[in-house]
Parts: sequence; C-alpha cells; structure tokens
Amino acid sequence: MTQIPTDLTDEQIPKELALALAGMYSGEARLPARTGGRTAGLAALRAYNPKDYAARNHLLAPISRLSMYLRHGMLSPREVADHIRARARGTDREEGLRQLAWREFFWLVLKQKGQAVLENLEEPKYRAVWSPELPNDVREAHTGLPCADAWITHLKEDGYMHNHERMWFAAYLIHWRRVHWKAGYDFFREHLLDGDLASNALSWQWVASTFSGKPYIMNQANIEKYSAGRWCESCTADCPFMGSYEQLQEKLFGWRA
Ligand SMILES: Cc1cc2nc3c(=O)[nH]c(=O)nc-3n(C[C@H](O)[C@H](O)[C@H](O)COP(=O)(O)OP(=O)(O)OC[C@H]3O[C@@H](n4cnc5c(N)ncnc54)[C@H](O)[C@@H]3O)c2cc1C
Repeated sequence: MTQIPTDLTDEQIPKELALALAGMYSGEARLPARTGGRTAGLAALRAYNPKDYAARNHLLAPISRLSMYLRHGMLSPREVADHIRARARGTDREEGLRQLAWREFFWLVLKQKGQAVLENLEEPKYRAVWSPELPNDVREAHTGLPCADAWITHLKEDGYMHNHERMWFAAYLIHWRRVHWKAGYDFFREHLLDGDLASNALSWQWVASTFSGKPYIMNQANIEKYSAGRWCESCTADCPFMGSYEQLQEKLFGWRA
C-alpha cells in the first residue's frame, strides 16, 4: 500500500489520494464539500440546535447534517441521542430520537439479513417492470425538471441530499422512470458522504415497496409545499407530478380508489 504523506496542503490531497487509491474509486478526485474527522464532528454536534426539528420534512427546517460523521464512526448514535435529549423538548425531541432509531433499525435488519438487503426483501406491491440502468439524463442532472435536476446536483456537488429530496428522487426514479431501486442505491453510494449499506438499501426498498406495504409517491403540491415553491413557482416543464395522489396512483400503478 502506498504511504500517504501527512504534511499535504488541501490542494495536494486529492492528487495524492487518487494515486494511493487508484482502482478503488470512480470519478474525479476532489476534496469533500465538508470537513471530516472527530474534531469537526464534535464541533458540528455542539453547533446543532434541534429546536423545531419536528418540522424536518420542510427543506428550510433545521436538520443536523451529522449523518456523515455517524456513518464513519466520528460520532456515536448515543452521543447524538444525548445531545437531542439535553437540547430539545416535546415533539422536537421525540422526532429527533425517532429518526435516529430508524438508523439503528436499518442496522439491525442488515445484521439479520446480511447481503440479502441488496435483493428485493419482498415482492413489489404493484406490477413493476424496472430497467436496471440509471438513465444518462438522470446521471447528468439533465432531466428537464428543475426540481429533480437540483436534487441530483446537490448529491453530486455536496455529497448530500436532504431526506425529503432523497424520498422524492427515489420515487421519481423508481415509479416515474421505472428504474430498479438498485441503480438508485448504486448512484447514491457513489456520491453520498453518508452512504451506508443499511440505510441506503433499505430506504430505497421502502420507497420501492419491497420493504413496505405500498410504494411511496409524492405529488407536485407536496414538493411545492415542502420546498417553499423554490422550483415550482418558475417551472415551465411539463410536470409529471401534477395531480392528486389517487390520480397518480391510478396512472403509475393502475390502482383505482
Ligand atoms: C432513498 C434514501 C437513501 C438514504 N440513504 C442513506 C444513507 O446512505 N446513509 C444515511 O445515513 N442515511 C440515508 N438515508 C436517510 C436520511 O435521508 C439521512 O440519514 C438524512 O437525510 C441525513 O441528514 P441529517 O444528518 O441532517 O439527518 P437528521 O434529520 O438530522 O437526523 C439525524 C440522524 O438520524 C439518522 N436519520 C435521520 N433520518 C433517517 C432516516 N430516514 N433513515 C435512517 N436514518 C435516519 C441519520 O443518522 C441522521 O444523521 C436515506 C434516505 C432515503 C430516502
């Protein structure tokens, strides 16, 4: 294994890492959008104020952005839970602990099922015909939908996507574009700084309905409401998310209310 010097400047790090890790990664070598490590993780935890976390589905509400530190063991779930207990009250506290519990639940499922989490855990709850490949326009953030292109750009540029954007994107890819959730899982794994086998695979399966009772979908009104209209207000695209949930379920899955 190539020895990596420890006295590198920020400009030198990507090149040296690229040399040392040749063959083990794809894409261009660059510094991550956020600083890693235990010191940065502790600073981010101390700075995190979980007040109003219960509104977390809204893109403007406060979230911790601690996932990459949790993923790489720079913070423990117990430290984050203690912080939430000390700093939040009522539904903010409950919701904070509930989301951490999802992470732990996914890990328990992974422990029980192992690599089987990378296969459909159940049959999809609709007649699904999914393509195995990620379409190029999706990979390149050129879908023509300002919202979807923004979600993909966040992923590729920041190594991060808000949870609600992840859910919207996963639903778009699986149910509107008919792409297998595994292609989305791989795309996330390629770019997410918090990319985690358990949470990633099982969340995709939850949206797909292979680890849940029904496929998750959203509509245009939901995207507009939880993004404060940031894409919808000036959008001129032919929006595929327009309609009520009943109409979209019929269109996508052939279900009649
Ligand atoms: C399709 C899809 C793929 C995902 N892939 C990953 C992944 O690879 N790695 C990952 O850590 N999370 C994943 N998640 C869950 C969630 O989106 C992220 O944990 C969250 O967005 C991280 O942001 P945050 O740290 O600000 O979370 P906060 O909302 O501040 O929550 C605090 C911590 O709780 C945990 N958490 C919060 N929400 C969830 C959730 N819904 N499921 C599991 N754990 C949660 C995370 O560890 C997070 O850091 C995925 C969700 C979806 C829908």
